[in-house]
Amino acid sequence: ERLLNQEAELNEQSFEQSLRPQYLKQYIGQEKVKANLSVYIEAARMREETLDHVLLYGPPGLGKTTLAVIIANEMGVNVRTTSGPAIERPGDLAAILSALEPGDVLFIDEIHRLPRTVEEVLYPAMEDFCLDIVIGKGPTARSVRIDLPPFTLVGATTRAGSLSAPLRDRFGVLSRLEYYTEPQLADIIERTAVIMETEMDQQAAGELARRSRGTPRIANRLLRRVRDFAQVRGDGTITRDMADYALELMQVDRLGLDHIDHKLLKAIIEKFRGGPVGLETIAATIGEESHTIEDVYEPYLLQIGFIQRTPRGRIVTELVYRHFQIDPLMEK
Ligand code: ATP
Repeated sequence: ERLLNQEAELNEQSFEQSLRPQYLKQYIGQEKVKANLSVYIEAARMREETLDHVLLYGPPGLGKTTLAVIIANEMGVNVRTTSGPAIERPGDLAAILSALEPGDVLFIDEIHRLPRTVEEVLYPAMEDFCLDIVIGKGPTARSVRIDLPPFTLVGATTRAGSLSAPLRDRFGVLSRLEYYTEPQLADIIERTAVIMETEMDQQAAGELARRSRGTPRIANRLLRRVRDFAQVRGDGTITRDMADYALELMQVDRLGLDHIDHKLLKAIIEKFRGGPVGLETIAATIGEESHTIEDVYEPYLLQIGFIQRTPRGRIVTELVYRHFQIDPLMEK
C-alpha cells in the first residue's frame, strides 16, 4: 500500500511538472514581473553574463518555483532546486554551490528559513562567487578562499519582511508576485484542462477561477478533483453544474473559502465578538499553527477585505457577516 501511495504521489508530482509553463510567454499573468525579467534576461544574455540574483516574494502557490525554472530555461542553463530548511549546515551549502556549472540557477525556496550560519556563507558566494572556509579549530584555525562558478541565486519567500537586511540587499532584482485575476486563472485552468485532455465548459472554468483564491496551485488542484467527480458521477465533461456540485462536496464556498477559513472567521466572530484578537490566540483557538494562518490563510482574507490587521489584533469586517448572513448586532 505504501508503494501504491508513493506511486500516486509521484504521479501527481510528475503531473504537476507537465503542467509547468517552460518559458515566459507561456506564463500567464504577473505582467509587470514578466516584463522586467525579460529585459534583465535579455540584457544578461547580450552581455554573456549571468543574470543578477532574483528574489521572488508573495503568498504560496503563485508560481515562484515555476518562474525560477523559467528563468533558467530562458537563460539556457540548468536549475538546481533546494529549500531553506533543507540546508542545515554551511557545509551543505558549500557542497551545493561547488557542484554548480557556470551560469546555473540555484533556486532556494523558503529562503527566509535558512539558518543564520548558512546565510553567512551565502553572502560572499552571492557577492564575489567565492566561499570562505575555516579549516581547523582554535588558534591554528585558518580561512581558505575557494572560487565558485558564477551563478544566479533565485530565492523565494512568502515573507520578504522576515529576510535579514544583508541577505535582501544582495539581490539585484526583487519581484513581488500578486494574486491572479479571475480571467487569468480561467486561462490557467483552460490550459491545464487542454493538457489533461479534459472537456470543460467555459462557464465551468469561470466558476473554478472564482473559487481559486487568486492562486494557480489551488486552481489546478480544484480542477483535478472536479475532473474526478465528472469522470465518476458524470460523463467526463466538466460542466458548470458539475463544478458547482463537486465544489460543494469539497466544502469550497462561493468565494473559494474552505472549512479552515470558515473556522477561523467564525471563531473571531463567535469567541471574540469580531475582534480584535491576536494571531496566537486565534491559532490556539482553532488548533492551527500561527505561521500557517499567517502565510497561507490570512493573506487572501486580507486581500478580499474580510480581515483587517490593527495594532490590537485581527478584526473581521462587515463583509464576513454578510458572507455568512449573520446579523452583526445579534452577535455583539
Ligand atoms: P510557490 O509560489 O509557493 O513557489 P509554486 O511556484 O510552487 O508556488 P507552482 O507549483 O509553481 O507554485 O504552481 C502551481 C502550478 O500552477 C504549477 O504546476 C503550474 O502549472 C501552475 N502555474 C503557476 N503559475 C502559473 C502561471 N503564471 N501560468 C500558468 N500556470 C501556472
